[in-house]
Amino acid sequence: MRGNERKIILSRYNKCAYCGGTSLATEIDHCPPKQMFPKGQRPKGLEIPSCRGCNAGSKRCEAFGSLLAQIEVEQEFGEIKGGLEQLKKLLRHFQNNYPDLLRALEPTSAQVRDVSRLSTDQGRSYGALDLRAPVVRQELFKFGAKLGFALHWNERKAPLEMGQYVAVSAYSNVQAIRDEIPMGLFDLMPGSNTLAQGAKSARDRFVYSSRSMEDSSGTVHWVTFGQSICYFIFAGSGLDFSKDDEDRVFYPGCFKGT
Ligand SMILES: [Zn+2]
Repeated sequence: MRGNERKIILSRYNKCAYCGGTSLATEIDHCPPKQMFPKGQRPKGLEIPSCRGCNAGSKRCEAFGSLLAQIEVEQEFGEIKGGLEQLKKLLRHFQNNYPDLLRALEPTSAQVRDVSRLSTDQGRSYGALDLRAPVVRQELFKFGAKLGFALHWNERKAPLEMGQYVAVSAYSNVQAIRDEIPMGLFDLMPGSNTLAQGAKSARDRFVYSSRSMEDSSGTVHWVTFGQSICYFIFAGSGLDFSKDDEDRVFYPGCFKGT
């Protein structure tokens, strides 16, 4: 993005989308991040005003999300798109910075067998990662929350307010193949969007759909990353949560100082 475009966005929208509008936006945050794309070449769209604290505090979950999103895409298209290099770079980044997280993601041999059997049934290849460890789930939901704040801002062109929250549900490729995703949710959503710039489109790795609730209590979003992971996200207020849901509910300012 050119300096000019950055200035235009920040002069029009001067509040950070991630901390309830309490901080001035000084940076443009790309959500999903550039590192998700081969050679960092990210088509335009979803440029979100952010303060430094929120942008810096979400680096870890964004690296996690980028890794997750590329597992399947790179296996299928890596050679053609030169994306394999990007995946290798990300893996090195994880090895150096978050070795525990990388270890926790290592699939068990039973999971690898399971996914390769599902892949054969479906006639295509899927990647396997173990998403069960608490440290992994934390990043999985946090990345979903980042998307929720960004997509809410994109829908309203205003930050999610203090006192409101983002609630995240995540589904894996395995759950998708086994029809464990509540498909009724899709029926509520308008057509899908992606990032695009000229002939370049991110449709193979990132698709989203957003709408406002009729009672204006918030916004809802579907996000899918290739055949890797899919999120259903609510941003607003008025939902009931049980104690079990606490780890997937996020409030404005949650990225600061993490
Ligand atoms: Zn902020």
